[in-house]
This record gives sequence, structure tokens and C-alpha cells, in this order.
Amino acid sequence: MILDLKNIWSNINHNCVFCDLISANKSICHDCFEDLPRPTNPCLCCAIDLPVTSKYQYCHQCVSNPPPFKRTYAAFNYQFPINLVIPKIKKERQRFHLTWLAAALAAQISNQPSSKHPQALIPVPISMLKKIYKGYNQTEQLAQYLGKLLKIPVDDSLVLKNRNTRPQAELNARERKQNLQQAFSVTDNIYQHVAIIDDVMTTGSTAIEIAKALRETGIEQVDLWILARTPL
Ligand SMILES: [Zn+2]
Ligand SMILES: [Zn+2]
Repeated sequence: MILDLKNIWSNINHNCVFCDLISANKSICHDCFEDLPRPTNPCLCCAIDLPVTSKYQYCHQCVSNPPPFKRTYAAFNYQFPINLVIPKIKKERQRFHLTWLAAALAAQISNQPSSKHPQALIPVPISMLKKIYKGYNQTEQLAQYLGKLLKIPVDDSLVLKNRNTRPQAELNARERKQNLQQAFSVTDNIYQHVAIIDDVMTTGSTAIEIAKALRETGIEQVDLWILARTPL
């Protein structure tokens, strides 16, 4: 109850979440928003931030071993203070952060012509058991906000999580891959182009597993929209 009050309060309170200044925009003031860590020279495929001096559009990893997704859009780098805010959505149920984070990501994507937009947004699913325990899936909520802002339908039943898995954050890169093997299945597909929606991308194992399953059903293009990308 107390936690829900926090989310309700944030909707009527216009103080910036970082500096407490009264802000015309909800949740975050202009200066704090401008100061957030953003990719300056992101790899077009996986959004890892390349050195500003790099003249390449793709990182070495994506060139030598191309992932099954084509394009990643990341609103921020997973650095201070974004790396403090996103865990709070999960651990402290501060879901009000999703509104301004989604708006930032949508603003970046709306720079692209709508002809390049996907036909549907696919939130990274959680297992049924976890959803019952948590009461909601935050990536589903993020996808709903993005869908509304960009007028793209959300399909939360195309990809299902078959079983509960260990939290990826507890595992190293090799364990992350093993942890997710055969963890996702795709129901009847009707799309040619979709975007997977997730909050943070670290090694990309989750996105790779889901994109692989989607591509196997004949989807030509899978993109990835994330709030934040862990930098090199
Ligand atoms: Zn501020
Ligand atoms: Zn890359």
C-alpha cells in the first residue's frame, strides 16, 4: 500500500526526481534530463557506445558474429544515475520512472521515419509464476507506454517464457547463455518486422535468444528498443 502511494504521489507531484526542483515536465527537470548519460557513437546493431573517435558504425562483435537482431535503440547508457533509477523500478516498485524513461526512448525513435517502425512491440516476457508473484511485468508496462506514444500495437502473447530462470544479473556471460537456452517460445507469427522491448541490455543474451526464436518463425527484421545499454 505504501509503495503504491509512492507511485500515485509521483503522478501529482511535479518535483524532479533527481534535484527536487519543481518541473514543468513530470518527474524530471530540463537540466537533469540533459545531463543523463547517452550513447554518443552507438553501434547501429547493438547500441554499445563506440569511442567518439571511431569511424566505424558497427562494433567488432557485431561484425564478427552478427546477432539475430538488426538495429538497437538505447535511450541511455547504463551509468550513473540511470544505473540507480532502473533497479528502483524493479526492487522498489517505483514504476513512475517508466513514464519519463519511455518518453525519452520514444522521442529518440520518433526521429526515424514511421515507415521504418516495426509492426508490433514485443516485451521481454517473464514466466507466469514470476508474474503472479510480482503482479506485473515492467517491460510489458514499458511497451504499453511506448506503443501509446508511437501508435504501435503491443503484442504480449507472441513470445512466452517457458520456465523460470535465474536472474541474469547474478550470472557471468557463459552462464547467461546457458540459463536462457530454450527458455522462450513463439506462438503463431503474423509479422515481418517487430521490436523487442527491454529495460537494460548487458551481454545481449536475452535479446539474442528471443530474436533467434522470432527469426525462426520467418520474421525478417527484429529490432531492439531498450532504456539503457551497459557501456564497454
Ligand atoms: Zn532536476
Ligand atoms: Zn555492436
